[in-house]
Amino acid sequence: MSSKNDRTFEKLLSPIRAGAHNLRNRVLMGSMHTRLEGEPDGIERQLAFYRERARGEAAVIVTGGFAPNAEGMFDPEGPRLDDPRQALSLKPICDAVHQEGSLICAQICHAGRYAKFEGCVAPSPIRAPINRYSPREMTAADIRRTIDDFATAAANAQAAGFDGVEIMGSEGYLINEFTVTHTNKRQDGWGGSADNRHRFPVEIVRAVRDRCGPEFLVIYRISAADLVDSGAPAEEIAMLARKIEIAGADILNTGIGWHEARVPTIAYPVPRGAWRQAAANVKAAVSIPVIASNRINTPEVAEDILASGDADMVSMARPFLADPHFVRKVREGRAHEINTCIACNQACLDFIFSDRPVSCLVNPRAGREAEFRDTPSETPKKLAIVGGGAAGMATAAEAARLGHAVTLFEAEDRLGGQLQLARAVPGKREFDETLRYYTAQMCKHGVTLRLGCRATADDLAGFDHVVIATGVTPRIPGVPGVDHVKVATYAEILSGAREAGQTVAIMGAGGIGHDVAEFLVTQPAEANENAAFFERWGVDGQFRKDGALAGDPLAELPAKRKVVMLQRKTSKQGQGLGVSTGWILRNALRKHGVETLAGVVYERIDDKGLHIMLNGEVRVVAADTIVLCTGQEPDRTLYDILTARGIAASMVGGAAEAAELDALRAIDEGVRLAQSL
Ligand code: NAP
Ligand code: SF4
Repeated sequence: MSSKNDRTFEKLLSPIRAGAHNLRNRVLMGSMHTRLEGEPDGIERQLAFYRERARGEAAVIVTGGFAPNAEGMFDPEGPRLDDPRQALSLKPICDAVHQEGSLICAQICHAGRYAKFEGCVAPSPIRAPINRYSPREMTAADIRRTIDDFATAAANAQAAGFDGVEIMGSEGYLINEFTVTHTNKRQDGWGGSADNRHRFPVEIVRAVRDRCGPEFLVIYRISAADLVDSGAPAEEIAMLARKIEIAGADILNTGIGWHEARVPTIAYPVPRGAWRQAAANVKAAVSIPVIASNRINTPEVAEDILASGDADMVSMARPFLADPHFVRKVREGRAHEINTCIACNQACLDFIFSDRPVSCLVNPRAGREAEFRDTPSETPKKLAIVGGGAAGMATAAEAARLGHAVTLFEAEDRLGGQLQLARAVPGKREFDETLRYYTAQMCKHGVTLRLGCRATADDLAGFDHVVIATGVTPRIPGVPGVDHVKVATYAEILSGAREAGQTVAIMGAGGIGHDVAEFLVTQPAEANENAAFFERWGVDGQFRKDGALAGDPLAELPAKRKVVMLQRKTSKQGQGLGVSTGWILRNALRKHGVETLAGVVYERIDDKGLHIMLNGEVRVVAADTIVLCTGQEPDRTLYDILTARGIAASMVGGAAEAAELDALRAIDEGVRLAQSL
């Protein structure tokens, strides 16, 4: 965890020369699709979004991807840079970023066979497993025209005021599809030998450099580990890196894993800094700056990568959603005040995949900058917040920041509420950072903490307003025998109050059921977290083999226990899990042999285990332990008492609505309520 002012971050804060530019530090804000451009006030919202990140002192900001032409769009409404007038509409964004002292580059990304429409194109007509549309094979004329389109898009960006472009050559998009035999089966001058497969990106870089001149910053994002079968081996990646340098790129950013890869690359199960060796391999091949990326979320990890020489710069994307002022806080000795990205993907990628503008679970202001104010309250109040979970802490920190006098009551002797349970789940230790952040904010803004104090109505009578954030309690279903000694709640298991036996039945297959299943089957974390992760997902930790794969990412793994997870619904289990993380969790459980049963009727619980009816037949799921993951009930006893006594009170988080509660809604509601007081 980032602790108070105990480190300097000399390398991270040191300037670096790249092409014709002096960069003020070693941090690039990585490209993120924001979907802000599709909003009615898209330019204003993008301007506010990027200006805030420039104020936070990212040396270079890379925008979300713009297609170089119509075929290259990700979806039919996607942003593109082939129209000079449309490109010029982005000028105010560039100006705003420049006023704050940062550089801004437009990413040019041709979606290739990932484009979600009829008529998408690729080097060879092979459909991507994650797309229902089959691509058309590009002709030699298509290829030449596309190279020219990249150069035109770059020139349009330059005319609009961008300092440079990032040419997207990784993640399985068009350029990457040319570089590897996995997707390039061509027999002409654009396929076959490595030189032929590399010709497309090399010519694009050369054309962009020729068209835009020596001052223009050209960043090339190279795939440093494809993580797909027949991906590039390390020698080919190094070879391509050298050719890209010679063709005129100023910086090599690195990308990890194709979108269709079955290995997690950025979500919470990936250890911090896991991919640094892939960047180091690229760096060994070239003399231009190389950027490490993916799961770099704290200044400590970034500094370590830079100081070790594995990379010259770091790219952080989601961490700038979580905290736009990341670098500024480091420079001002306030690293402990950084709101850390916890790699949950819940409000960034999952929003994007469900056609919503990007935001952030730990920072609801992200992408909605204009909806929030920083001006102090004109009528400061004496506020009591009851409950120190995510909702309570977010309300308290924001209200105190806006000038209210805040006292927070928490019945436990520590803060966190449900976050204390979530942090026990494999990979979710990142919630510690959220706890650290809110604790630091509450301390900074003078919140009075009353830990170990279960507030009564009398305690709260003297406040102007009370916020009830008392959260939830596990739901106990009305199944006969539910009070049997074998039965435990998820809270008892995750908190360590109860130890599960060797055979476990989990009632409820929602988010918590899946998390508890993973908690129960996963072996204790090995000392070398990276090595364990690579082994679990079949990755070559040296990044030398083809596609950096050393085994089958879906291979079975030993489980700590035998676990059966049940639900009453007949629908597919885990449907409500996050779009970008659910597959990881489902695969992890499958790999550990977790059995799932849907469409069950719970009959009773006794010494034999859990009796169910399935497909009209009675069955006993033998289990030493039965864990209830059957949802939650709101805890609003106190609210009802206060209202009866006429004490002004509001509710946030699980106390307000337990269904579908997660930290995303809890924090969003807390911050918005504080803004409205
Ligand atoms: P949930 O996702 O609503 O799942 C509750 C489960 O309990 C369902 O499988 C439901 O399925 C079952 N259930 C509900 N009432 C029951 C009853 N009376 N008797 C027996 N079974 C009952 O809620 P959750 O798992 O408690 O999670 C809470 C929130 O946190 C959710 O919003 C969830 O998305 C979020 N969360 C997400 C993740 C993640 O995405 N990894 C992890 C943790 C939490 P049946 O009714 O079909 O049996
Ligand atoms: Fe990071 Fe989660 Fe915020 Fe996305 S939503 S930026 S993963 S904390």
